[in-house]
Amino acid sequence: MRQANYAAKVNSLADDSTLELAARLGVSASVAQVVSTRQLSTSIAEVTLQGDPSLAGVAGNDIMVRVLDSSGKFIRRRYSVRFVDEDAGTLTLWVTTDHDGPGCTWARHAQPGDLVDVVGPRGKIILDPDADWHVFVGDASGLGAFYRMAQSIEAPGRAIFIVEIDHDDDALTASFDEGIGITGIFVDRRGRAKNDPAGLLNGLAAFEFPQDQGHAYLFGEFSTLRAVRSALLDRGLDDQYISSKAFWRAGRTNADHGEPDKSEN
Ligand SMILES: Cc1cc2nc3c(=O)[nH]c(=O)nc-3n(C[C@H](O)[C@H](O)[C@H](O)COP(=O)(O)OP(=O)(O)OC[C@H]3O[C@@H](n4cnc5c(N)ncnc54)[C@H](O)[C@@H]3O)c2cc1C
Repeated sequence: MRQANYAAKVNSLADDSTLELAARLGVSASVAQVVSTRQLSTSIAEVTLQGDPSLAGVAGNDIMVRVLDSSGKFIRRRYSVRFVDEDAGTLTLWVTTDHDGPGCTWARHAQPGDLVDVVGPRGKIILDPDADWHVFVGDASGLGAFYRMAQSIEAPGRAIFIVEIDHDDDALTASFDEGIGITGIFVDRRGRAKNDPAGLLNGLAAFEFPQDQGHAYLFGEFSTLRAVRSALLDRGLDDQYISSKAFWRAGRTNADHGEPDKSEN
């Protein structure tokens, strides 16, 4: 009951633009409250929000948060939900903080008690229930989604993570059901450009595909993911078993609605 009262009270505070966006997308809008933040590694901060757990959808989904840009204008950024605590009514995000941008600044400075407009659930890529193995490829921005998705695999199953990181401590781990086989390949970027796919391609080359059916999920930098997708196709994985979503693009700020630039040049 306390939770319901809280939700009723804060939802009435959401900005009109947030309510309109949610109505247009056919999802929910809410005002969430920051409960806690902590820096998990050099590049990743954990932000926990008190809010309606239905905003979090299913593993692989994300929420849109409304943040201020450097000119004082409100824009939106999308963050995958790392985990949901239904009893506590909280959603936890893993946000990359090793660059400069409005989303990053919000996560770095968020304080318990801060309110933020949230729209969700968003996202179309969810776990393929028919796959025997699941390979998750990308960078630190995808780690929260990768782990939530892998934690939803039903045993027996297999999850393989191929993730490029900038700092040793970004190799965050998670626990999984005993019946799930886990392989983790963390690739050290070693100063390569953020859109250089060489590291992830090397990591992928080190992974031998099992005989049965697999599904690949690619979350991370735009150009890098394109190269990884081509490599997977070259290795014989059918297009229908590759789900890819660019989260950001090197050298370019995401648009105000949260999507990276997908133009050809
Ligand atoms: C569906 C979806 C889900 C997402 N889920 C997550 C998530 O769970 N966790 C997460 O951290 N991000 C996630 N992102 C990316 C996130 O929404 C932001 O784009 C990202 O945090 C950068 O926003 P910003 O405002 O800080 O920087 P921007 O203003 O977008 O960019 C500023 C500069 O920083 C660079 N930059 C942006 N992101 C990174 C990065 N990760 N590493 C290095 N340089 C970068 C850009 O190239 C640009 O030069 C997701 C994006 C989408 C579309």
